[in-house]
Amino acid sequence: MASHTLRAACVIGWPIEHSRSPLIHNYWLKKYRIAGEYRREAVPPEKFTAFVRSLAARGYVGANVTVPHKEAALDLSQADDRARAVGAANTLWLDGALRSTNTDVEGFLDNLDASAAGWDRDRAKAVVLGAGGAARAVVYALVSRGVDQIVVVNRTFSRAEALRDRFGARVRPAHWDELDRSLTGAALLVNSTTLGMERQPRLVIDLGRLPGHAVVADLVYVPLLTPLLKAAKSRELRAADGLGMLLHQAVRGFALWFGKKPAVTAELRSLLEADLGPSAVADAGIT
Ligand code: NAP
Repeated sequence: MASHTLRAACVIGWPIEHSRSPLIHNYWLKKYRIAGEYRREAVPPEKFTAFVRSLAARGYVGANVTVPHKEAALDLSQADDRARAVGAANTLWLDGALRSTNTDVEGFLDNLDASAAGWDRDRAKAVVLGAGGAARAVVYALVSRGVDQIVVVNRTFSRAEALRDRFGARVRPAHWDELDRSLTGAALLVNSTTLGMERQPRLVIDLGRLPGHAVVADLVYVPLLTPLLKAAKSRELRAADGLGMLLHQAVRGFALWFGKKPAVTAELRSLLEADLGPSAVADAGIT
């Protein structure tokens, strides 16, 4: 039932025009007939602290936080274990105090579970490309699901080493030129670099060494069907795309702010696919 007070949340970033979060949350607000609003807030780094401290005064019950504010959001809030472990917060809510979490962790896992059920039957080895903020969420998620060895391949080797220091000996840092070799025996490959994204260089990789039961996940969702996912499809490997993760990571924030756990539906996915453009829709049939 609709409440009489308008509850509002927002996504804070710099820049923020391209965020798809308003589409997701406003879809759910309408679907569940909740009297609420979800807005974009363009906030430059030097104004972030003041903005976050004035969330309540601005009428907000919480917020998503995106580039470049995720580390600052962690420092300004009472973060849960997972946000602290990942070193970044993407969801804030007011609960007497200002609290935070990182929903990329569950977004990644829930999407994998939904797109490639049973992917974790073989937990011996996963390969993660990248060592930035998204990779930290992915590695934390894989450690929490009991993956024995997580090979982190990154262009800047020292950043891959930093992930081993953060998450322990299950993480094996690897150099970029070890990429193809590292895939031998891996049941999961995750791209958490920006490679393959629109206007970014292509990810050059040969999936030949992945076993037939391997699952490929790409965090990039513009384009929706990335060259990596196309390559996985042509090898008939199961895959999980970045849009699925984006949708699943939004669930917890909505529940915290508006009191209803929303469903990730085919209708919502179609809405986002349409927004991502015709080429994304045409190619959307991956599983
Ligand atoms: P980030 O912190 O900037 O990290 C970028 C990563 O990409 C680093 O590991 C970087 O390597 C690597 N990289 C960049 N250019 C490269 C190149 N030319 N060759 C090799 N490696 C390169 O970014 P992030 O926040 O982790 O985000 C990474 C990606 O995940 C983005 O595409 C983002 O949109 C996506 N993402 C998606 C979701 C979702 O819900 N689907 C959620 C979070 C993030 P170096 O360390 O060597 O610089």
